[in-house]
Amino acid sequence: MKRLIVLGAGESGCGAAILAKEKGYDVFVSDMGQIKPAYKALLEQNDILYEEGQHSFDRLKDADEIVKSPGIPNNAPIIVQIQEYRSIFAREKQVVPVISEIEFAARYTNAKMICITGSNGKTTTTSLIYDILRRAGLNVGLAGNIGNSLALQVARENHDYYVIELSSFQLDNMYDFRADIAILLNITPDHLDRYDNKFQNYVDAKFRITRNQTADDAFIYWAEDPVIDRELHRLNLSATLYPFGDDNGTNAAYMSGENITIAAQKNLALTVPCDTIAIKGKHNRLNSMAAGLAAQLLHIDNDIIRDSFRNFAGVPHRLQYVATVRDVRFINDSKATNVNSCWYALEAMTTPTVLILGGKDKGNDYSEIDALVKEKCHTIVYMGLHNEKLREHFGDGKGNIGTSGFEGKIIDTDNIDDAVRLAYNAARPGDTVLLSPCCASFDLFKSYEDRGEQFMQRVRQL
Ligand code: ADP
Repeated sequence: MKRLIVLGAGESGCGAAILAKEKGYDVFVSDMGQIKPAYKALLEQNDILYEEGQHSFDRLKDADEIVKSPGIPNNAPIIVQIQEYRSIFAREKQVVPVISEIEFAARYTNAKMICITGSNGKTTTTSLIYDILRRAGLNVGLAGNIGNSLALQVARENHDYYVIELSSFQLDNMYDFRADIAILLNITPDHLDRYDNKFQNYVDAKFRITRNQTADDAFIYWAEDPVIDRELHRLNLSATLYPFGDDNGTNAAYMSGENITIAAQKNLALTVPCDTIAIKGKHNRLNSMAAGLAAQLLHIDNDIIRDSFRNFAGVPHRLQYVATVRDVRFINDSKATNVNSCWYALEAMTTPTVLILGGKDKGNDYSEIDALVKEKCHTIVYMGLHNEKLREHFGDGKGNIGTSGFEGKIIDTDNIDDAVRLAYNAARPGDTVLLSPCCASFDLFKSYEDRGEQFMQRVRQL
């Protein structure tokens, strides 16, 4: 019996353990932290042995294969220790394969795989494609970073299609997996702490989405992303290419005036006015193009795609409309945890804006948003425990202008109550208050969801 060790007992780890058990593996689950009660119950119901609060080497060392949660780095001490033991003491030449849950689950299904990666826009695009496929009546599952794990769905349900959101961390541990349709939305620096601070390592991880693809498979990508463009010239991909972007000369989906046109094949062209697409902003036009191409490649009727564009309202915490209070509109973009996604949020603003930003800085370069901030924002509200870098860049609110040259008003806060109240006071009728923090949430909140929920709650109390 093959021994499978699962590291990390979250959604993906528990799913992998259940599927592995069903397929006859000797499974053991190990989590350094505390396992959530719901997952413990799931493991117990399925007679799966587990430990929490530790990785006990003796129970893990004889793994034939390791399924690792994407949150655990490849050089985590327990993994290094197991590999060293294998090479020195067990004298095995081969290291133990460390794979992701997606890689493991994909071995047990012949479903068509539609996979989405990128630095920003994954969840939105994945959810939009899922919406289109469901409207078309396909038997489809949603997996990856959203919804139930792929492994659990493969074990319990039997879908013909899976729409899978893939992070670079999941891609890092994928080897034999092949996407029928792979989508790469964009690549901007993110998570560099996990990639030896080398941007190229992160770029390489993203491009793993094209691994094993053949000419029968599709690679959909944003043609105007300079990093993707550069890599495509360097790599020799086998997949059939479907670029999307502004240019209507060479792209399979493109902007045409105030419309987008999607034409996976010339005779299939679907032209949709942008004002009939429910999710707003340039970035969402790009996401819609990518989703539309994927849907056409799956032979879905243009009418269904159009219908989905009109009705799909987006995902919570992504440019989510909250409320209008005395003619001030509030938008929750808490998921904007890097500068690039804030850029797109600002780009989508159509009124004067009060911008709330701040939190745990991941090495941000705020100059990327300088021009848009000056054009659209009359006030910036800092919300964080460490606003020093923001003060330096945008001004300290005490009359000292920062390096960006922004001359609007600065309000400096360290909590959500003050941030929302003072942002509201600074807004004039017709303005928008936008929470698009550019930063992770962990200084003041449990997660970006928690930050977004608290923001919406405070707004509703105004
Ligand atoms: P992800 O799952 O990749 O984090 P989301 O769909 O959750 O992406 O969107 C996160 C944030 O990124 C949103 O708040 C939005 O402002 C921004 N965003 C969405 N799509 C794009 C895109 N195609 N390009 C750049 N930014 C985007």
